[in-house]
Amino acid sequence: MFLRWRSFRRGAVSQCACTPEWPGLRSELDGHEMRGVPSPGGSSFLVLQLGLEATCAGCGAHYPHGWALADRD
Ligand SMILES: [Zn+2]
Repeated sequence: MFLRWRSFRRGAVSQCACTPEWPGLRSELDGHEMRGVPSPGGSSFLVLQLGLEATCAGCGAHYPHGWALADRD
């Protein structure tokens, strides 16, 4: 009954405000900025193992879906 509603927390931003949505993903690893790419199949092993979180490169919203670190240039 009320249990479902409790998951809607105010301030937990997971909605991108950009157009188009999620123009890019970024994360931080050991103080270095890393680029991320959406991964529809789920987050990569490295992301899960390190507990990394991705945010939108445009608006900074927390990316709620699976993602992986992009290859370095
Ligand atoms: Zn955004």
